[in-house]
Amino acid sequence: MKNMFRSTLPLALFVALYILAFPSVDLAQNRSILIRNASIVEGTGAPVFAGDLRIKNSKIAKVGKIKPSSNDEVIDATGLVLAPGFIDIHNHSESGLLREGTAANQVSQGITTVIVGPDGGSPFPIEDYFAKLDGKVAVNVGAFIGHATLREQVMKGDYVRKATDAEIAEMQKLLEQSMKEGAFGLSSGLEYDVGFSASTEELIALARISAKHKGIYMTHMRDEEEGMLDALREAIRIGREAKLPVQISHIKMGNRNVWGESANAIALIEETRNAGFDITADAYPYTAWASTITVLVPSRKHEDRDEIEKGLNNVGGADKVLITSHAANRAYEMRTMSDIAASKNISPVDLYIEIVKNGGAGVVCNSMNEDDVKAFYTQPWVMVSSDGGIGSRHPRGTGTFTRVLGKFVRENKWFGLEEAVRKMSAMPAARLGLKDRGLIKKGLKADLVLFDPATVIDRATFAEPQVFSIGMKAVFVNGVNVWDGGKITGQLPGKILRR
Ligand SMILES: [Zn+2]
Repeated sequence: MKNMFRSTLPLALFVALYILAFPSVDLAQNRSILIRNASIVEGTGAPVFAGDLRIKNSKIAKVGKIKPSSNDEVIDATGLVLAPGFIDIHNHSESGLLREGTAANQVSQGITTVIVGPDGGSPFPIEDYFAKLDGKVAVNVGAFIGHATLREQVMKGDYVRKATDAEIAEMQKLLEQSMKEGAFGLSSGLEYDVGFSASTEELIALARISAKHKGIYMTHMRDEEEGMLDALREAIRIGREAKLPVQISHIKMGNRNVWGESANAIALIEETRNAGFDITADAYPYTAWASTITVLVPSRKHEDRDEIEKGLNNVGGADKVLITSHAANRAYEMRTMSDIAASKNISPVDLYIEIVKNGGAGVVCNSMNEDDVKAFYTQPWVMVSSDGGIGSRHPRGTGTFTRVLGKFVRENKWFGLEEAVRKMSAMPAARLGLKDRGLIKKGLKADLVLFDPATVIDRATFAEPQVFSIGMKAVFVNGVNVWDGGKITGQLPGKILRR
């Protein structure tokens, strides 16, 4: 008796200490979540079916008809759709995630993976950025490396010119490093000042490095208005010569002069795809774009009155341009240019010159046509992206994914729920080369959304871009509940995703 006591005591002590030291280990091993009676949309485009799903150890452990076990925390999903978490391939939460890792306005619309670094601007070095977020975010995060970011590193402020061969070689080195750190490819923003002066050859030389590491080329093209088709041809040429897939960012016909020309852009992309070249696109579900005020004058003659007049007419007038940020005078914010100009008794052209002189402004410009939005959105090679993020002053930052579900699917009936979910999950996952997410399938990571298809809709508006959507009941990232009953849970299970 005495001997036995002596031999078991250390063991008991060890077990007790072990449990004290690692209380979650034992519990987490056995704990599981069972979502019952859901309408499951698996992401492939296959028809919705009734079923149950068990989450265990951050993964989808089982899908089908499942009998609850004593380890299951059971969620009754009667009347709700269970779908893969949404993957936003074009997201501007770079700094937002550092400020607000819980990413409330992202998870509130069902986003479980955020890909930052689009439009040519990205964190740098990517590895340092990832280190700051690791373990501190609710959503999974991946990144593109930005072409303008590379130009800034190498050419500093002197970027209104072509890069020299030596500079291109230096940018290739930094790009190579970024690809090794896990970037999904090269992004460009050729309508913006830093990238605008780059030659097509510079972009091909850089895209080759992305190709070498199995990355893609994702581009905010040089022109989304009168020169859209030429810009599209340039993007295709870059992809063909560098031998890598191309993703056209936020595809659109940006102003009135090109309304209806989506048919030509679609024909060109179809023809290119039919010839075997891998090109896809993404789009946000609004007829208003958001950018810097200077894109209104593509000639970049920002003091030329005729050019400014033309630029304002192209978008339908100064009443279509909402100033969303202007550091030099905050009183201008959230007012249209026509309203501000009238109150100051000056012309919109004078106001433009003043604003650009004082550092420029962020604008939201309502100049697109819903028929073009529909034409692009209904293409099987167009996926959903927000082009927004945490703190975005365009409602797309908070409302994109729920808007597609509520407005385009339920109200407009442009396509079915299955196709919408595919555009939000499996399609971007395939584009990025993510093998373990984007579908409801046994063994994949449990990134999941649970929403009410009868009520889900966006609520963010241009006046109040931060208002959360309704109808999103629960969101899981790596098996952990981050959004529950209209609130964040505060959990931070997001992972860094590397190509
Ligand atoms: Zn863009």
